[in-house]
Amino acid sequence: MKITDLKCAIIGKNPVVRITTDQGIDGIGAGEEAKSYLKPHVLFYKDMILGEDPRDVERVMNRVRRMGAFKPWGTAVSAIEVALWDIAGKAAGQPIYRLLGGKVRDKVRVYNGSVRKHLDSYSPEDMAANMKWMKDQPQKFSIIKQGIAFHGQMATRIPDFYYGEVVTGTRHPNRGPMTERGLKHTIACVEAMKDVLGDEVGLALDVGPGVIPQDALKLAKALEHLNLMWLEDMITGDYTPYVLADLYRDVTMRTSTPIHTGEQIYLRQNFVDLIEKRAVAVVGPDPMDVGGIAELKWIAEYADLHGIQMAPHGTGDGVIGLAALVQVCATLPQNYIAFEYPTGNPDWWYDIIEGLPPKDKIVKDSYIDVWDTPGLGIKFNVDAAKKYLREEDADFFDD
Ligand SMILES: [Mg+2]
Repeated sequence: MKITDLKCAIIGKNPVVRITTDQGIDGIGAGEEAKSYLKPHVLFYKDMILGEDPRDVERVMNRVRRMGAFKPWGTAVSAIEVALWDIAGKAAGQPIYRLLGGKVRDKVRVYNGSVRKHLDSYSPEDMAANMKWMKDQPQKFSIIKQGIAFHGQMATRIPDFYYGEVVTGTRHPNRGPMTERGLKHTIACVEAMKDVLGDEVGLALDVGPGVIPQDALKLAKALEHLNLMWLEDMITGDYTPYVLADLYRDVTMRTSTPIHTGEQIYLRQNFVDLIEKRAVAVVGPDPMDVGGIAELKWIAEYADLHGIQMAPHGTGDGVIGLAALVQVCATLPQNYIAFEYPTGNPDWWYDIIEGLPPKDKIVKDSYIDVWDTPGLGIKFNVDAAKKYLREEDADFFDD
């Protein structure tokens, strides 16, 4: 079998990858909806993989992997990797999980990081009301994540939240020592949200990046009595193009609150420091940023040997990313907690993809049943999808 083409279309806002072969089998992958600018980056790899056998996934990846980087520049490589697995699975007549060693679980737990309602303000009362809304959602999520402090707009909207220049209008991360007022406000918001959830639903918090290490430790210790699931990306993370594992280790070793990072990190090699130093308690690579699903599985296995838990990132990955997450998370060791549930945006994504359960039945009691269809187990309804193609992508589904 030979790869005959690598295509990319922007569908909705997601960059979608399609790899075709000389045997009529194709594979799909996709990146986050925030990354429509990646189309030329995907096509950059085309000449490197044409003519290769897509079922030799690792061999093909060795041709492109070196030409990627931390988020957002790992997405194109990751989407190609997922499309290769999709082809390999279809060619074998097996779901991807079986090619990765088989299922460890029949259903995978997910957490809420994407089913959202507009937050009126960053007061403890509004954050509690917002949390109540999330708790009442029909998916009955057993873990909910919310942004606080430097993640989202709390740090820039609450007056005198921290010492440092407030930068807006760009992905420039704000950073600086928190004021006592900022620290107290953050703790009050977390306590208010926890009041709503009680001990029925776990609370995770996306906190940075931008928290200085001393404040990260103060926050983690002040919140210990609330038994949080984790504090995410406090010091570095999100779009930070480096890790600084030792700074995380200083915090992790001094608190019982689990510290989490990893969504922006590209490749297993960049997790070595975090894992071997046990610098965090939980890692959260995103399959569509880290280099793909086999990459994520390797990291989960290595983390497990070091007592580190696994909670993959996924928000924004859309329904194609959802399928990739379901396949790989079925195979992860028992350090698996849950993955961040991505939704289709706009809503018509559920009309153009076949193979998923009905939209309102995908998540039941915070779990998704692992499906057994070959490859990713999903495919485009080409007739329905064609009307959402941009003019320049009109030939996306042609062979
Ligand atoms: Mg995050």
